Amino acid sequence: MARTDDDSWDITESVGATALGVAWARSQEASSQCPLFTDPFAKMFVDAAVVRGWQPPPPYMAEQIRSISGYAAARTKWFDEFFIAAGAGGIDQAVVLAAGLDARPWRLPWNSGTTVYEIDQPGVLEFKAETLRANDIKPATNYVAVPVDLRQDWPKALQQAGFDPSEPTAWAAEGLLPYLPADAQDLLFERIANLSATGSRVAVETFGEGFFDEELFARHREEMRRLREEAGATNDDAPDVMDLWYVEERTDLSEWFTDRGWQVSGVGAGELMKRYNREADEDHTPRVVYLEATLTAHSPDS
Ligand code: SAM
Repeated sequence: MARTDDDSWDITESVGATALGVAWARSQEASSQCPLFTDPFAKMFVDAAVVRGWQPPPPYMAEQIRSISGYAAARTKWFDEFFIAAGAGGIDQAVVLAAGLDARPWRLPWNSGTTVYEIDQPGVLEFKAETLRANDIKPATNYVAVPVDLRQDWPKALQQAGFDPSEPTAWAAEGLLPYLPADAQDLLFERIANLSATGSRVAVETFGEGFFDEELFARHREEMRRLREEAGATNDDAPDVMDLWYVEERTDLSEWFTDRGWQVSGVGAGELMKRYNREADEDHTPRVVYLEATLTAHSPDS
């Protein structure tokens, strides 16, 4: 499943299927004792994908699923709160980069008049729109889909769709960066900075210490092999998400934003999960940091 510079995907394929994995994890939250968010649309997406032949994670992955569900729930809540705080701060333009099946335009209490732009590959956004249309679901605010690849000229597509760079924006990149080559990641943030008026905010799930640790990868692969073997599922060709990542040296985004005059704060996944009463575990909780950056009026570049 090698990646290429201009690869594309449908919702059940390659990187597209990772959006389904997240939707599936979010659909599990409804049955937790104290849900961190409410997302009735996640199950709709999963059900529609199953009709298209997609298979949810098999039961032999129960252990990994438990820890990954807690991580996905904490992450979802963190990004939800980012958008709510941005709205409380007066921002009424939002861009969700690599939106996948995130249903925030349909489920968050946006300020009246807010416009949310969602960018992802055309096949992903088409599946999302079709599923919501089939269930007669309307967005909770102004919603604009921008079907474009984030390695292409997405700023042009975004502005053609109505985005106004003179207005402060709340940007989010959740579960995206490992799927982008390092140079595409650098270009992504250059472009975001160029399109950000004073007061803009960025929320990003970025790499923490040891995210790309080779020994960790090897342990994961070995664990999957063993679980498949124990379950007699040796013909199971469930893709390994790590095969879709670009394992490359990455720019430290905390430094990058700070150097450009943004105010930056961050929290690691383990700490965030603890805050939300979810159990993190050394091997299964992704080693990520949630970073928030704000371009204040007092920054040197403003
Ligand atoms: N942010 C969503 C969420 O948390 O529910 C989806 C996360 S999913 C792990 C990764 C998403 O990134 C997929 O929807 C995929 O299509 C999108 N993606 C990855 N690379 C992309 C690219 N080059 N252009 C557009 N979308 C991309």
